[in-house]
Amino acid sequence: MKNLLAAALCIGAALNVNVASAEEAFGIAIHGGAGTINKAKMTPDKRANYEATLAKAVTAGYALLEKGESSEKAIIAAIQILEASPLFNAGKGAVYTFEGHHELDASIMDGKTLNAGAVSGVKTVKSPIALAQEVMNNSVHVMLSGEGAEAFAKKQNLELVDNNYFNTKSRYEALLRAKKKLAEKERELKDFQAAHQLLDNEYKYGTVGAVALDKNGNLFAGTSTGGMTAKRYGRIGDAPIIGAGTYANNNSCAVSATGHGEYFIRYHVAADICARVEYQGKSLAEAADTVVNDVLVSAGGSGGVIAIDTQGNIAMPFNSKGMYRASMSNKQDMKVAIFADD
Ligand code: ASP
Repeated sequence: MKNLLAAALCIGAALNVNVASAEEAFGIAIHGGAGTINKAKMTPDKRANYEATLAKAVTAGYALLEKGESSEKAIIAAIQILEASPLFNAGKGAVYTFEGHHELDASIMDGKTLNAGAVSGVKTVKSPIALAQEVMNNSVHVMLSGEGAEAFAKKQNLELVDNNYFNTKSRYEALLRAKKKLAEKERELKDFQAAHQLLDNEYKYGTVGAVALDKNGNLFAGTSTGGMTAKRYGRIGDAPIIGAGTYANNNSCAVSATGHGEYFIRYHVAADICARVEYQGKSLAEAADTVVNDVLVSAGGSGGVIAIDTQGNIAMPFNSKGMYRASMSNKQDMKVAIFADD
């Protein structure tokens, strides 16, 4: 054993690899949604606002990791900052349903134990990611929905708010625009579902998520969203579905997705990326890029992911015009970006 360790240290030294810091790799990546982010409409003020909030969230998570706290704590801290911001489609600032309310979805997964928690269609829970965490840690289930999930939130003493708390003017205006387009298309197609399928991407995205690796080598992933503008009939997207919008496994990687949820569910995007890393021996960058830019693009699904592996490598590919994103690790300074050429 001692000889093996000595040999590893010699090889490390010969390759100029810092063995001690490689053992302690840690880092975090976050997203605030992918989609048709219009560069022309992105004023310097608006951009600065997005970037400042992303930077605040990623540094909050990173600071916890640096202190030796768990990846669970780090992703919760980052996601709650994004949920509280009206800029993103999660928590405050969530999109509106067709009926003019908000229905929120979230999920979280532990890469060490493969324990997971998810909630869907909740209307009064201030922090849906906190409720997903409660489901993971303090219930015998993986997913709770609607009123039952809200009753559980009350029992766990989570903060409840009126559905109006999630209101923002800009999302309401987006609902009015979406309903106008839907009405025109529905007249042509005589079918709400088909009309919704044709809605522009600007109505579909904005989810938030975080993935992290802590100093103990444990991965965590989490995602929180208001779903899609003008969603109807209790529609649930990929964000609360383990394997689709969120996945973590210490054998491979942690992934949080954003995009057209129906495709992410059918192509179990988050789990597929981790499976390619684990079973095909692909690098994180290659696995994430193949799924986002080949598999999803061929299927017609737009969006992106953030992912981190057990060595602290981070990948953030997307096939849409932009994706609000940020990352930081002990081998990489903070990066905050929106467009592909950032
Ligand atoms: N994936 C989310 C959904 O389909 C939307 C998003 O990423 O913004 O509900």
